[in-house]
Amino acid sequence: MNKEIASSLPSENKLIDMFSRSISYLRLSLTDRCNLRCMYCVTEEEGKGGPVKLRHDDLLTYEELLRVVRVAVRMGITKVRLTGGEPLVRRNVLGFIRDLNAIEQLTDVRLTTNGVLLNKYAQELFSAGVSKINVSLDTLRPERFASITGVDCFNDVWQGLHKALEVGFNPVKVNVVAMRHINDDEISDFVHLSKTMPLQIRFIEFMPIGDSSRWNDETFISSDEIKQRLEAHGELIPMERLQADGPAQVYRLGEDSVGSIGFISPMSHHFCDQCNRLRLTSAGGLRSCLLHDDEVDLRSVLRQGGGDEEICKALLDAIRNKPKGHQLEERLKNSGNNCHGQMSRIGG
Ligand code: SAM
Repeated sequence: MNKEIASSLPSENKLIDMFSRSISYLRLSLTDRCNLRCMYCVTEEEGKGGPVKLRHDDLLTYEELLRVVRVAVRMGITKVRLTGGEPLVRRNVLGFIRDLNAIEQLTDVRLTTNGVLLNKYAQELFSAGVSKINVSLDTLRPERFASITGVDCFNDVWQGLHKALEVGFNPVKVNVVAMRHINDDEISDFVHLSKTMPLQIRFIEFMPIGDSSRWNDETFISSDEIKQRLEAHGELIPMERLQADGPAQVYRLGEDSVGSIGFISPMSHHFCDQCNRLRLTSAGGLRSCLLHDDEVDLRSVLRQGGGDEEICKALLDAIRNKPKGHQLEERLKNSGNNCHGQMSRIGG
């Protein structure tokens, strides 16, 4: 594939924040629409049937997204993740991915999906140059899947997962949000999958995001508790840290495991000091922290005729305000304050 070559920008325009963190990872929420209605993601208004999705005009167009990414790679971004909402429901996402992959300095384009359309798209995603795929799956039981996601399509996701492996994604990462009394009785079933399949099962701590979150002290389970429970099933052997692991701590359950187990602990062992992320929400807001609601309105910059310099300035503004840490524990203790943004717009 021919790559476009973008010239680099002077070093004062590099994405380095006030705490010397280099920002090299941009997450794009392509749409806030989704073909599932997960219990922790659906907003209160949506639950009541309210009109809450963005209009198509409110989303950044692919051309606008490409402009932003072209400037961002000149400022140090090397990795982009497509998320949402469900990125695969946005029309012509494959064409967009091909255009993204044509950008020279962008070395890594990844995707997070609920897997419902993966059986259909896995081959083309692989051919379009997606380097890694994360599939979100909180249960291995079809009935429970329907009750968590609101849609009875476990088998589609299961087939999609196998298809992704078959076309060459290896490993496929499986994101599991562990929730007490909801799916915590399946922790060992998930872990056993990692023994026989080249999957990285990643237990993600449940975070208090948005007005719909079912998060509370009771549903929350820490990574330490999960690890403790797994000790009964064998030895957790720490694996060498790879860059692709991101903030996950990765283990194998016994020497003969084909796959691995990751723990992502944004609540109990947050990784803010190593955070290299910037998010662009589906409404075109630049957000430097998942758990802080401050955003820079990049959509207005783009739609008021802003050129590359203005895009560059907006990116720098977002990074300059990147908080040192999410400080969620203190916020929760002091005021019960959580993060009010919707995960589907922010891009989980
Ligand atoms: N539709 C895609 C999917 O399902 O993977 C991408 C968007 S989804 C919002 C991205 C990830 O965020 C999913 O793995 C989901 O489980 C996770 N997520 C959503 N709300 C969460 C919460 N409150 N705490 C932890 N993870 C959450």
